[in-house]
Amino acid sequence: MDPIPSPNQKQGSDSVWPRALSVISRHVNDHVMQTYFERIRCLSESKDQVRLALPNKFMRDWVVDHYQSFLQEAVSEVTQSPTEVEITVDVSTLRAPQQAQAALRKEAPPNTSPASSSTRFSLNDKYTFENFVCGSSNQFAHAACKSVAESPGLNYNPLFIFGGTGLGKTHLLHSIGIELRRRHPEWNILLLSAEAFTNEVIASIREFGMDSLRRSFRQQCDVLLMDDIQFLAGKDRTQEEFFHTFNSLHDTRRQIVVTSDKYPNEIAGLEERLASRFQWGLVADVQPPDLETRVAILEKKASFEGIELPEDVSMFLATHVKRNVRELEGALVRVEAFASLNGEQISINLARQALQDQLIPEGRPPDVDKILRTVAEHFSVKVGEICSDRRHKAIVLPRQVAMYLVRDLTGLSYPDIGRRLGGKDHSTIMSACRKISSLMETDTGVRKTIDHIGRALV
Ligand code: ADP
Ligand code: MG
Repeated sequence: MDPIPSPNQKQGSDSVWPRALSVISRHVNDHVMQTYFERIRCLSESKDQVRLALPNKFMRDWVVDHYQSFLQEAVSEVTQSPTEVEITVDVSTLRAPQQAQAALRKEAPPNTSPASSSTRFSLNDKYTFENFVCGSSNQFAHAACKSVAESPGLNYNPLFIFGGTGLGKTHLLHSIGIELRRRHPEWNILLLSAEAFTNEVIASIREFGMDSLRRSFRQQCDVLLMDDIQFLAGKDRTQEEFFHTFNSLHDTRRQIVVTSDKYPNEIAGLEERLASRFQWGLVADVQPPDLETRVAILEKKASFEGIELPEDVSMFLATHVKRNVRELEGALVRVEAFASLNGEQISINLARQALQDQLIPEGRPPDVDKILRTVAEHFSVKVGEICSDRRHKAIVLPRQVAMYLVRDLTGLSYPDIGRRLGGKDHSTIMSACRKISSLMETDTGVRKTIDHIGRALV
């Protein structure tokens, strides 16, 4: 693959991707441009292939489903030849180490090792303490991180943050870096992933020599923030280097913070002496957020992104997307894109459509009797009354809600539902379902009721 010559690389004016972006911007509206295309990062480009990355799977899938050929055309228009476009996920949100290093190699004055200023590049300004929602699941880790950002090297050194994927570890690590940079602009704060560190070690062995690496990490570093330390497992040479770096920083009371997906002792392939050092300071975990925290995260994110998110939809998303925050954010982005591309307002119905592949009901769907009992209980009526032919006002709405929910949650046919609800005609069920669907668009009370009962059933 011949790299495309780029005489003016600093501005990137001859690079393919910026020019393709400008082609794209002529064809899509500002919103889609900002939501998707401007978030695409170009990993590499040549005349034959352009590799792009989006920050999460939802966005990537959406772009692949809707824009793959469009992207292909835009890029090929720029290169004037059939260029392949590959789109991947880049969850790290950190600059790819090679990219940062390449930029640094170009820009760094002689004798400065590649690592020494890479932090400046990789601090993600969105990942601040202000943007982090604190709940019982992450309170301890959050407090520890704040304390470290306020008094580095004093209380908890090292600070070890561990927990499952997408729960905010990287976010917290950047928050510390951002706060420290604000307080001590002259400090050299190194934030990098363990993978990038490994690459630095390899590059130093091959090209730069260990002295320059040691200078950057041991002498010139004031704070070391290392993400995903589990990556060091099994990499003996890198662990050895990290061990001495650790000792040198710790001995001189310089702060070290590391994150990991596991507790130190549970990282197979991590040397015992490192695992034990990681426990010298404070070990804090992050857990999956509870419902209230998930709602708060969605609301914060929506307001940050300028998305109008109705309360019931944020409750709906938070109820259905539980595993981690990254998926929650992905769901919000997907719903928002779905709404904007279809020119509709965000509603529960729309969210349901946008996320239909993800909303796998847990366990078995509730049975008809359970739905009837729950609806009856909610409206303080009797199941028998719902199934009767009485046309009293107080019964009509609960009955229609019951019909709608049975259809929605069990997917039974209209005639079947009719039979299960006291022998009603299928057209009665159909019109009830339509009625409630349209009320859900216009009547917040009904929407909340459906959501409330729906939640009680899953
Ligand atoms: P991890 O490093 O644990 O895999 P990240 O820090 O990358 O997770 O978090 C994934 C996404 O979720 C990021 O966009 C991050 O901003 C967001 N996030 C995670 N936890 C929170 C939180 N408590 N408040 C706000 N955003 C959060
Ligand atoms: Mg992370």
